[in-house]
Amino acid sequence: MTSYKDLGLVNTKDLFKKAMSGKYALPAYNFNNMEQMQAIIQACVETKSPVILQVSAGARKYANQNILKNMARGAVEYAHELGYDIPIVLHLDHGDSFEICKDCIETGFSSVMIDGSHFPYDENVALTKKVCEFAHSQKDYVTVEGELGVLAGVEDDVSAEHSHYTQPSEVIDFVGKTKVDSLAISIGTSHGRAKFKPEQCTRNADGILIPPPLRFDILEEVEKQIPGFPIVLHGSSSVPIEYVHMIEKYGGKLTDSVGIPEEQLRKAAKSAVCKINIDSDGRLAMTALIRKVFIEKPDEFDPRKYLGPARDELKKLYAHKNQNVLGSAGQA
Ligand SMILES: [Zn+2]
Repeated sequence: MTSYKDLGLVNTKDLFKKAMSGKYALPAYNFNNMEQMQAIIQACVETKSPVILQVSAGARKYANQNILKNMARGAVEYAHELGYDIPIVLHLDHGDSFEICKDCIETGFSSVMIDGSHFPYDENVALTKKVCEFAHSQKDYVTVEGELGVLAGVEDDVSAEHSHYTQPSEVIDFVGKTKVDSLAISIGTSHGRAKFKPEQCTRNADGILIPPPLRFDILEEVEKQIPGFPIVLHGSSSVPIEYVHMIEKYGGKLTDSVGIPEEQLRKAAKSAVCKINIDSDGRLAMTALIRKVFIEKPDEFDPRKYLGPARDELKKLYAHKNQNVLGSAGQA
């Protein structure tokens, strides 16, 4: 049994309060390996941004939960060594059972998501409440994120063919009964790098897919129901076309890629949205740079020579997100 405080981590409570009053959103970046973690910390230290390090069920399987926990501890020390102590949260992304949440809490995670959004409403309430009771009764309060509404798309073990929007009429009841600390809602974001089918989009003059706009009307209605309550957006990568083109230039194929435009996320970050999840953009940046090295230097076989440039690009991407999209730069 490890408490997150022993690892130097914090929960999301105060961070969300500050994000709400400061009208910005915290970055929630997924990581599975050392290079991703280093890039996240480098970017967040450089831009003086608090950060949520996210671990999915897939990441736990890939990298092992204990290794990831110790990487988070390492992240805290790394930030310190880089010269600026930023608040760091270690968060379970899309926990799908009480057991996985409990396991993470006892391993040293400071925040967990229990995603019961695929269950009927009452079951979602019961499961989320059970996780909150456990998390909140720890010696050091662990924060819990719940979800109402279903996002389409594929993300590690999470996939749904069809989305359905969050019903604002349910949020007061859900938050009141479960005592969650934050709520993920569905307003048109989507998991993965192909967030919409081409037939849901329009095309600009260059033939690039333009996605349907986010449902800010639903977000506003939710805010009216639970004023000042922290809202979370999943599936909020923008799928930069430069990375898609680079990947395709160097032999990849990513048909019909489309993300959420950054201006829309910037707008959302100024509202009650306090946490924005970005994973696919990092995957694209890494893949683009690794492919570039493989094609341009076919005799290269030192992993540091392709993971290094990928890490540098990731850092650039995250710094850009903090500064220009989330508004979290300078808030740590
Ligand atoms: Zn998600």
